[in-house]
Amino acid sequence: MGRMRQNAAMPDLTCRRCGRPVERFADQFDLFEQMHWVCFHYEFEHGDIDPDWVCAAGGCPSAVHSPTPRPEKPRD
Ligand SMILES: [Zn+2]
Ligand SMILES: [Zn+2]
Repeated sequence: MGRMRQNAAMPDLTCRRCGRPVERFADQFDLFEQMHWVCFHYEFEHGDIDPDWVCAAGGCPSAVHSPTPRPEKPRD
């Protein structure tokens, strides 16, 4: 399955995390490890916390719905 890049308007790229077509940042496809930027964020930057919490990395998409940082867990 070769990757065709002749048509820049509709590149035939598929995100290897979610399997859906990559269109928006197709020019940065390799930079984001062949993923959507959002998929890259949740895979590598967001960490192990609930994806619905905003994380410490800049530009976390979860900030839209959850602008409040996750409360610190009490120490055991
Ligand atoms: Zn994706
Ligand atoms: Zn995040």
